[in-house]
Amino acid sequence: MTVTEIPFNNSYAHLPSRFFEHQNPDPVACPELIRLNSSLCETLALDAASLASRFGADIFSGNIVPSGAEPIALAYAGHQFGGWTPKLGDGRAVLLGEIVGIDGVRRDIQLKGSGRTPFSRRGDGRAALGPILREYIVSEAMHALGVPTTRALAGVTTGQDVLREGNLPGAILTRVAQSHVRIGTFEYFAARRDSDAVRILADYIIDRHYPDAKCADRPYLGLLNAVIERQAKLIVKWFQFGFIHGVMNTDNTSVVGETIDYGPCAFMDTYHPQAVFSSIDHMGRYAFGNQSSIMQWNLAQFAQCLLPLLDPDPETAAELAQTEIDVYPRKFETALNAAMCAKLGLKSVRDEDLVLGLDLLECMAAGKMDFTNTFRNLANIIHTDSLERFEVKDLFNNSSSFNQWVERWQARLTEEARSPEKCATEMRQANPEVIPRNHLVEAAIRAAEDEGNFDLFNNLVDEVVRPFETREGGSYYIRPPSPDEVVHNTYCGT
Ligand code: AMP
Ligand code: MG
Repeated sequence: MTVTEIPFNNSYAHLPSRFFEHQNPDPVACPELIRLNSSLCETLALDAASLASRFGADIFSGNIVPSGAEPIALAYAGHQFGGWTPKLGDGRAVLLGEIVGIDGVRRDIQLKGSGRTPFSRRGDGRAALGPILREYIVSEAMHALGVPTTRALAGVTTGQDVLREGNLPGAILTRVAQSHVRIGTFEYFAARRDSDAVRILADYIIDRHYPDAKCADRPYLGLLNAVIERQAKLIVKWFQFGFIHGVMNTDNTSVVGETIDYGPCAFMDTYHPQAVFSSIDHMGRYAFGNQSSIMQWNLAQFAQCLLPLLDPDPETAAELAQTEIDVYPRKFETALNAAMCAKLGLKSVRDEDLVLGLDLLECMAAGKMDFTNTFRNLANIIHTDSLERFEVKDLFNNSSSFNQWVERWQARLTEEARSPEKCATEMRQANPEVIPRNHLVEAAIRAAEDEGNFDLFNNLVDEVVRPFETREGGSYYIRPPSPDEVVHNTYCGT
């Protein structure tokens, strides 16, 4: 297969014309491939060898539009930090088209940073190298952790600077997603009282992503229910690994429950429920511990858009929607309890186990403990793996509250009468050793931006895609940042 034969099979581009604007990517001066994701190429049935060549750099920069691509910029709106913006849309991205992978899943192929579109407002349509590298690293780490997410297929430098605080090297990410439809896409049409468009969009999403909803008595209510379910599970996954999205606006909330739009995101080092990294989140709206209630708020905006489809009687429609939204906290808690049980090595899940997990978090907050290393090293208490380097009790300075918690936990474990070795092994599958720590991401970005050196970036990607493996030797990827390495703020890509 030559590279110009990417097997596009597009559907969104055939929706009514008010859903998007036709927009080709703007060619760039001197595209160079930074990295190609060959395992994702395999899933998409793309020829990695030809894409790793000059052709790949041309395709992933937008300099060549492959045949079968129908580049479009999608229309959407959104609530940003709670405030309503009626028109956002892809201001610096184009959807090239869709590919059905070897797994039968249809995925969007999008270029991010590909130039101005009719939605660009005052923006330049471009992206700086740093945020592109961050999205590549973090989204691939999330995938390896088992968190639903958009993926990174390729990164290229453009050979052109972008003007931000100063001049920065420009780059483009080829992003792969099951969908780029956001809650804000529904809001865009609902706010225009275009109920035909809302219905067309809902039917499209049901057909493509939630076919089971078609069998429900009320398919659109089935859709709402299924989206709520997926989002509750997604936020639990973020919780499980200490991930903070940073900009949970409704335009950054996918209707298929994938993590999307990595901006000033971060994995926590030291655990604190109110941890915030985003430089633009002054009020802590999107703090770690707020993510679940913010998602419920976002889902309420989604439900609002669907009201005219739920029932001809507005009161009945509102009641039906409210009932679904009210169930969200219970769905979240149930999924959280199951996730915490896995992290604690508990096979059976009992309602009261959630308190055990939450009490550990309280201990961790009081002791300013490292989120990832604490959970990873809990397994050593029940079964020591000679390769593990930290004694978790030492991490806690042998604090009495932690020791008391360990006693409760061990009493609970005893009730399951499982082999400690097996239990510890399973815990190491639930608690990663390596996450993309902020200081590692920053170091990779600095080397790339300042010296054009991508070694740290490439090494970091190679490590974060194997998060659960126990490392021998060097602890560069495991140790928390020293005080002078701590990253306090992360910045948007804009
Ligand atoms: P984001 O912060 O990436 O979620 O983007 C919010 C909105 O701003 C979206 O409509 C983007 O398309 C738009 N946007 C962000 N950066 C740029 C840029 N450099 N040029 C044009 N539009 C942008
Ligand atoms: Mg966005």
